[in-house]
Amino acid sequence: MVFLNFSTSQFLSFWVSHCVLSSDLPLTRHASRVTDYQFLMIVPIFLPHLGCQDRCIYCDQDAITDVNARGLKSRIEEILTSRKDPFEVGLYGGNIFNIKPEALRRLFSYFDNHRAVIKNFRISTKPVPLDDEVIAILIENRVTTIELGIPSFNDKILELLNRKHTAKDLENAFKLLTGEGFQVALQVMVGLPHETMEDIRETVAKIISLKPFYIRIYPLAFINGTPLADMYKAQKFVPITFDEAIHRAMLIYLNVLQHEIKTVKMGLTDNEVIKEKIIGGYYHPAFGFLVKSEAFYRAVSAKVAEAGFSGEVAVAVSNRDIPHLLGHKRSNIVRFNEAGLSITWQVNDIPTGTFLLRCRHKETAGNVFDALSGVRVE
Ligand code: SF4
Repeated sequence: MVFLNFSTSQFLSFWVSHCVLSSDLPLTRHASRVTDYQFLMIVPIFLPHLGCQDRCIYCDQDAITDVNARGLKSRIEEILTSRKDPFEVGLYGGNIFNIKPEALRRLFSYFDNHRAVIKNFRISTKPVPLDDEVIAILIENRVTTIELGIPSFNDKILELLNRKHTAKDLENAFKLLTGEGFQVALQVMVGLPHETMEDIRETVAKIISLKPFYIRIYPLAFINGTPLADMYKAQKFVPITFDEAIHRAMLIYLNVLQHEIKTVKMGLTDNEVIKEKIIGGYYHPAFGFLVKSEAFYRAVSAKVAEAGFSGEVAVAVSNRDIPHLLGHKRSNIVRFNEAGLSITWQVNDIPTGTFLLRCRHKETAGNVFDALSGVRVE
């Protein structure tokens, strides 16, 4: 059996999500501070709109987190107080780079009672502004991973979104932060107003050239009360279909995975969103699963066509890939049937992300990257 164009490590990482490395780190600048990998639980703390001088037009973090008006310090205390085993703190939401140094020191001081069990922090932030003192505070407080939000690498779209930074700003921040020894990850989006396939191609190319520690892919949701939702209601842009959003996410996901860049998350999870406020866009509680199922459907279809198979086709996959082969509510099986294929499946001891096809007496092998045949975007 010959598997082409992929490595075992790619398949090992194919379905791995939220598998996060953390580290002990010496507090020196200008050197990698990541020395001793270990798996740690991440305790998320949401900082809705903290440091957000300007609101991005799609964002209402009061609607996408469960944070209420209680004081931040007491909330942190409540979340951390019963934890005895070492963990990592994830500071998510807001724009930490825009928090004034004095306020940022105060924020980190709220964790002082728990320093013995907090191994390190990770943060998410806009890539601007870049301030030496803020970066020094992050280093002092054992921040190891920084996730930079870059919805698109198209400056016109960034402007429309009111991001108040450019793609070049992101690249500058990425280089500076990696030079300081941080692990830098990226958060990208799909389904943005006026986004084209050329923008997706650019997103893929930039991710591959920057080589982030990992990425997250967020499909746009139209949250009632935001300027984006108003634009949507006024029909100021033509949204892509849900299926197209899945397809674009799949293109990013597979293309960067081919370069061994892991996507740790696709979509918002149920507890990150108040569904009643979403009036459009591409939110789905199983968005990541849908993307992976789409990849499997397209890959199997491509190999069936390439091999000239028809009628009854037996598919052997890893146990973990059976759901991806079947699709959400068996939608892939329905689609195969509509294409004239009668698919049967069996579990085989092969790497996740791969499959074997048999039709009459012929066999062929494939993998999820076959979904890219004819549509590669890099
Ligand atoms: S997307 Fe980030 S930077 Fe933009 S308003 Fe929301 S929290 Fe602030």
